[in-house]
Amino acid sequence: MSIEIRNLSKQFGTFSALRDVSLEVKSGELLALLGPSGSGKTTLLRVIAGLEAADTGQVLFQGEDATDQHVRERQVGFVFQHYALFRNMTIFENVAFGLRVRPKKFRPSTAEIQQRVHELLKLVQLDWLADRYPHQLSGGQRQRIALARALAVEPKVLLLDEPFGALDAKVRKELRSWLRRLHDEMHITSVFVTHDQEEALEVADRVVVMNEGRIEQIGTPDEVYEHPASPFVYKFLGKVNLFHGRLHRGRAWIGGIEIDAPEHTEAEELSGVAYVRPHDIHVDKVDHALNGEGAIAAHVSHILSVGPVVRLQLVRDDGKDKELIEVEISRERFRELQLTRGDQVFIKPSRFDLFPAQIH
Ligand code: ADP
Ligand code: MG
Repeated sequence: MSIEIRNLSKQFGTFSALRDVSLEVKSGELLALLGPSGSGKTTLLRVIAGLEAADTGQVLFQGEDATDQHVRERQVGFVFQHYALFRNMTIFENVAFGLRVRPKKFRPSTAEIQQRVHELLKLVQLDWLADRYPHQLSGGQRQRIALARALAVEPKVLLLDEPFGALDAKVRKELRSWLRRLHDEMHITSVFVTHDQEEALEVADRVVVMNEGRIEQIGTPDEVYEHPASPFVYKFLGKVNLFHGRLHRGRAWIGGIEIDAPEHTEAEELSGVAYVRPHDIHVDKVDHALNGEGAIAAHVSHILSVGPVVRLQLVRDDGKDKELIEVEISRERFRELQLTRGDQVFIKPSRFDLFPAQIH
């Protein structure tokens, strides 16, 4: 079931929680709403669910206007950060609940409920916990049960609001890949809210980056990470270095050096701030001045060498930037360079985006 959101706006008093939000969730897609706290993610999810009415705009399910539909008619399943399972019911009964409370006409038989609940518990790999009570489960297990419970009534759409937010980092990572695998099996249209960039980029088919009630960018994880549409997205999705920059006809002046910029051929001269990801900086121990291109001289002030990627913090030798420059190189390259703290290096951005200065 596809979801289309058209020009939604929502005020709480004088505060704008959603400002003209439009987006489409494709049928079977897992879409992440990503943004800092207060950016309007939960409000948007609640409007999709029918728990909150927008001031203006429309929500369409499979092309049909659902704006005035009641939450019960929308056939959505929810999982929240603190999804209170019924404490006095077994896990089995918790999952069965949504089926048992159906009007008699639509209620499956006891044998059918039995079968369906066990299927769901198998799906979330917790069949062996059917007779336990919620307090006997870990936080991660409880959230998996919450998901099984949401799925029991065969929702057309699944809405998850920071479902792993209260769990510790290791369990969160495990559940992330577990959810992705589960989604690949079920293909139920899902909207997943998170403020955790890594979580969104790892789990989702597409990511919607939100800021102050607006959509900053929609794209695949790769698109939003590699080609951020705004300074906000650049900063929110990962580490980034800022340099003064200027662009003219395929040449750029970044942080005081001149480099080739064949992908930026705009005839009009642009000046502003260049955004450079830590892995888009070339590092060398010698200064290769080729084609009139220079390199920024710097010293290594810190080395973080845990994992496959080595992170370097550098200080510019000319003192132009007070801020440290963050660079990421592969462990292999790190070995090749034989870097230690205090070494002099020469760096050059290999890829960047330039944004006008006034929008920072
Ligand atoms: P997020 O989920 O991205 O953290 P929310 O959608 O919960 O953001 O909230 C967006 C903004 O709207 C917040 O500043 C919040 O304080 C405000 N807000 C949300 N719900 C209400 C409400 N019922 N009454 C007043 N303000 C609200
Ligand atoms: Mg929220």
